[in-house]
Amino acid sequence: MILDAEVETRPWPEQLAADDGAYREQLAYLLARSRFYRDKLGAVGIEAPEDAGGLDAISRLPLTEKAELRASVTDAEPIGAHLCAPTSDLVRVYSTSGTTGAPSYVPLTAGDLANWITGSARSYAASGVEAGQLIVTTYNAGPFVAGAALASFERIGLTHVPVGTGNTDRLMLAVHRLRPDAVVVTPSYAAHLVEWAAERGIDLAASSVSRVLVAGEPGGGEAAFRTALEEGWGARVTEAMGIGDIGVSLWGECEEQDGMHLGARGLVHAELIDAESGDARPLEDGAAGELVLTHLRHRAAPLLRFRTRDHVEVRLGDCPCGRTGPRIRCVGRTDDMLIVRGVNVFPSAVREVVRTFPEAGGAILVRPRAPGVKQEPPLPVSVELARGAAPDDALADAIRARLREVLVVQTAVELVPWGSLGRSEYKSTLVAR
Ligand SMILES: [Zn+2]
Repeated sequence: MILDAEVETRPWPEQLAADDGAYREQLAYLLARSRFYRDKLGAVGIEAPEDAGGLDAISRLPLTEKAELRASVTDAEPIGAHLCAPTSDLVRVYSTSGTTGAPSYVPLTAGDLANWITGSARSYAASGVEAGQLIVTTYNAGPFVAGAALASFERIGLTHVPVGTGNTDRLMLAVHRLRPDAVVVTPSYAAHLVEWAAERGIDLAASSVSRVLVAGEPGGGEAAFRTALEEGWGARVTEAMGIGDIGVSLWGECEEQDGMHLGARGLVHAELIDAESGDARPLEDGAAGELVLTHLRHRAAPLLRFRTRDHVEVRLGDCPCGRTGPRIRCVGRTDDMLIVRGVNVFPSAVREVVRTFPEAGGAILVRPRAPGVKQEPPLPVSVELARGAAPDDALADAIRARLREVLVVQTAVELVPWGSLGRSEYKSTLVAR
């Protein structure tokens, strides 16, 4: 079932034609209302909307970095110079948890919030959950944007049981007593729950849950990891992804499990760039690069060519589900990426390779020896053993050899006891900085 079939199955060229009109209006709005973008676009000679052209010329416009938005924050403008709407028009202000210090604010008008929920509902509905079913969620409806996704479950027509973050007993009691069809968790937490249940002799695969929807960090689409989750839960695992500054759960995977569809189509435009040069890359089947997103119908603080720092792969072939447009799989965060003698290495990709070894427990920690992105080989990687497994030089050698073969990176693999790398009820840390 497709939540918004007319929109989601529209031929992609028609979508782009509609998006072109919305984009031109969004640019005119930015030039009229956003001091941030008037300055930024003025610096490259764009004073009026017609100077920028349409969506097919968007790659000529400058990219927007998160740091620029932060730098525009002052006491007089606490949200930033990109705020376009008066405070009286805002219905909500979320925070994003910055890696450095103070949070930044994400304001929304009533229309913006409604659009977020529309996109998020399409993304989550792609997983196959449908009206009348019961879903248990673990997001907190607190200061962070993930809280906005909660309304999308009601929009789909689900019976929504919010249990919040960080209370495994309460979550598992709800699974046991209320017999939900689906749960929504981070991939790290989904994996933790498989172990948690096994330790207590609970057969999670025998629970009522037939769908596990994962979001909040990359990893849900990694083949070996997904297989382990599906076996542990006895359920189908699909992933969703958003980015705080642009929108919540913008992308959602369908039951074909071959990448995430853009649930926020018509509201957000997606591009690909080379993360190092910033040059645009064609959105072709098999292409990879950093995802760049542009609001098309936003009002409070629309962003133009925002760098998400998500490194994604693109699929363009027809999807049997009938949804049109590009699909993506997130390989990792460019913030986590290391360059080992010229080779880009994503810790999530290291974990994916390690997970093909059943003797390894699945958790890894990359331990760069030098600060910064560039590293000399071998790159130290701690790999957790499976429960009860003893350290084995042959296993370490085999993991090192496969990492070299698949990722073309030289590593120094250290095997550590099961459970020693910690577990997360939210998101995993893959790099020790
Ligand atoms: Zn599909």
